[in-house]
This record gives sequence, structure tokens and C-alpha cells, in this order.
Amino acid sequence: QGQVSPAEVLEAAKARIRSCQSENNAFITVTADQAAPASASSPLSGVPMALKDNICTKGVMTSCASKILGGFQPPYDATVAERLRQAGAVCLGKLNMDEFAMGSTSETSFYGPVRNPWDLSRAPGGSSGGAAAAVAAGEVWYAIGSDTGGSIRQPAAYCGVTGMKPTYGTVSRYGLIAYASSLDQMGPIARSATDCAAVLDIIQGQDKRDGTSLAGDYGRLLEGLTGDVRGLRVGLPAECFGDGLDPEVKDAVLAVAGVLKSRGAVVEECSLPVMDYVVPAYYIIACAEASSNLSRFDGVKYGWRAEGYEDLTDLYRKTRTEGFGSEVKRRILLGTFVLSTGYYDAYYKKALQVKALIKQAYDEAFQRYDLLLTPIAPTTAPKLGESLRDPLKMYLSDIYTVPLNLAGLPGISVPCGFDSRGLPIGAQLIGPPLGDRAVLNAAHGFQ
Ligand code: GLN
Repeated sequence: QGQVSPAEVLEAAKARIRSCQSENNAFITVTADQAAPASASSPLSGVPMALKDNICTKGVMTSCASKILGGFQPPYDATVAERLRQAGAVCLGKLNMDEFAMGSTSETSFYGPVRNPWDLSRAPGGSSGGAAAAVAAGEVWYAIGSDTGGSIRQPAAYCGVTGMKPTYGTVSRYGLIAYASSLDQMGPIARSATDCAAVLDIIQGQDKRDGTSLAGDYGRLLEGLTGDVRGLRVGLPAECFGDGLDPEVKDAVLAVAGVLKSRGAVVEECSLPVMDYVVPAYYIIACAEASSNLSRFDGVKYGWRAEGYEDLTDLYRKTRTEGFGSEVKRRILLGTFVLSTGYYDAYYKKALQVKALIKQAYDEAFQRYDLLLTPIAPTTAPKLGESLRDPLKMYLSDIYTVPLNLAGLPGISVPCGFDSRGLPIGAQLIGPPLGDRAVLNAAHGFQ
């Protein structure tokens, strides 16, 4: 009595997707023909979810929101998709995103922009904007996104939901269409830290098919969550609360510090003297890797092919010219430039050296603190179109999220209030490598 059956949950999710899709455009493909699993074998059994459209799904189009992958149906499932299916998850489709996960607003999709459920004239953030919007609108209980420089955490913040980027190497990247392989991680966007923990318990763990997958048992996450933060040492890096940060966002994030303190954490200001360098280092490394990763899309092996070519070179040229959008082309050009002879040392090698210094600064901070607390983004969700007019401003807005990818660290975005326009604000809790449980625990303690 009073229990909801998996079939009823599934019907409710499908109905919600039908009514929201025309408003927020969160999905690229809806696969609502799924049946509810008969028995509950895991906490996720029968729970409707969806995957970002850069995660390979056998026989279901995986487009990266790009024209060039139109119609591409992978012959295999990503490890994440496979593990979730085995746990009884019900996948209702593929979620809209920035083309090839390059962007911070989910506006560069070939399938049209995603709109923020809190205000349809605004962006949901990106690149996993469809994932955050679908969870915020109640279309699915959770979604899997990817995070190369903030793409799980920042849309979660803009949409008022919780998103976690786990430690690099804990979730297999097998079947994730690569943007920048040394930075890419998949993770959950859900309604709470506990839901994120339940999803991570299923998807994390070593995978032989990903060479960067970490060996060993990293422990169960959900079981360990008590929310107890007594004695926890939390650092507030001064560089993350200075110029450029919207005062309403600042106040909301500092209020999180207040709550953690009132529950027994020890909160202190600290210093991360590398913040000026994180955005340039990130964009050089991400674009360099992207230019190499995206060279495989040539009209021969995957998806869409241009018509009317004269020879093989012309086929490559026409397909890539017509198949990639302008943001992707900008990054391929930039990445090719920084890797080219004569510039490699000045840009790419230098960026890798800076990356090492950034990692070192975080390592030092974690000798004194268990966790760090920062904003996710300098502002709340921008109006649609604003970032397309000023890409440099958009790149700079990634300042608080990209260093975690450069250093391989776990981080979570937790909703912490609203600005005066009623738009959600997110706070970021950051942990040392494999400190995922401490991050989730503090987020749970705050929520
Ligand atoms: N906004 C960042 C970029 O455009 C991060 C994107 C991501 O994490 N996929 O590169």
C-alpha cells in the first residue's frame, strides 16, 4: 500500500518528458520504449535515467550534438551504460549538450539550444546542459554527464541540482567520445549527494578497457555517508572570492561555510596562488587534445558524410567543413596551432608545466585541509545568446571548475540558494585524489 511500482514510475517519467521536451529541449533522442525491470536488484533498479549524447549506446544514435555524427549508432555500450543496465537502470534517452562537449551553455548543439527550466530565456549551463535540465525538470531521477572542465558541475549549479565529478580514473571512460582524454570524466547529476553516491557506487571501479582506469577498491560511497562534518578542516581559497565574483553568489557560498561551521567543521581562509593560470593552461591543453581526438571524424568511419566530393582529400575537407560547428572548429584550429612545430614548447609544453604547478598548489592545500570550498561559477545562468557573442568571457567563467580537471580532483556542485532573480546558485566542495567520499559526505551534511 502506498508503494509505487516501477511501471508507474516509468509512465510518470515518460509523461514528464513529453510535456517538457518542447520547452527545454533537454533530449536529442528519446527511447521511451523501455520496459520497467521486473525485480529490484539494486537501489537503482527501475529508476528512470538518461545519458549525455557523447556516451556510446549500442544501436542508439550517439551524436555529440554534432552534425558530423548524425546517424552514428555505436556497435557497443560504454562501460558506464553497461554497468547501469546491469543494475536495472531504465535509460530513457540521450541528452542534449554543447557540440562535442565544448562550451559552457549548451547552445552550440546541432539540435538546438537547451533552455533552463528555471527561466526558459536562460542557458542551463554546459556542456551537460540537457542532463541538468532533465533532472531539474523532473524528467529523469538522475543523468550521466561528462566533465572535462566543469561540464557536470556548472550546469548542475545553474539548474539547482547536484553534480559530481569523481577523481580522474575512478569511472571508466570506455565508450565516452573523447574531448580531452587527460581531463574527461563521467559522473552523475542528481537531486542530492546521496543519489550521486548511489549512482557512483554502480559506475565506478576499475575497467581494463580504459588504460587510465585506477586499480584497487575505492570503497563504497553510499554506505559511508553520515553527513557528520565535525572536526572537518575546510579551506576557503581567497583567490576564489575576489574580483569578478557576483556578490550574491559570494554570499550564498559563504553561507555554506557558515552552515558547515555551525555543524562542527573548522573553516579557514587559505590561499591558492595559481588561479590566474588555470584558464589559459586548461584551454591550451583541452584544445590540443581535442584537435587530436577529433581527427578521426573524417566522413569515412562514423556518422555523416558530405556529398559531392571529388576525391578522398576533398571528402575529408567537405565533411569536416560542413560537419563541425564554429566553436569546434575554433578549438581544432587553436589546438593544432599549439601543437605545431615551433609553437609546441612555447604553448603546449608550457601549459603542461603550469598544470604540474597547479596540481602542486592543490596538494599543498590538502596537507592542511580535508576539503576546499569555492563557488562553481562567477554568476548565475546567463541569457541565451550572451555567451555566443563573447566566447572569451565564457572561457573565463570556467575559472573555478577547470583546475580540478587539471589536477584530477573530485568535486561536487551543491545547490546553496538563489539570486534576487530566483536563479539557483551552486557551491563547490573539492577533495584530494580519492577523497570522493569526504566530498559527498560534506555535501550530504550541508544538504
Ligand atoms: N566549458 C569548458 C569547455 O568548454 C568545459 C567543458 C566540459 O567540461 N566538457 O571546455
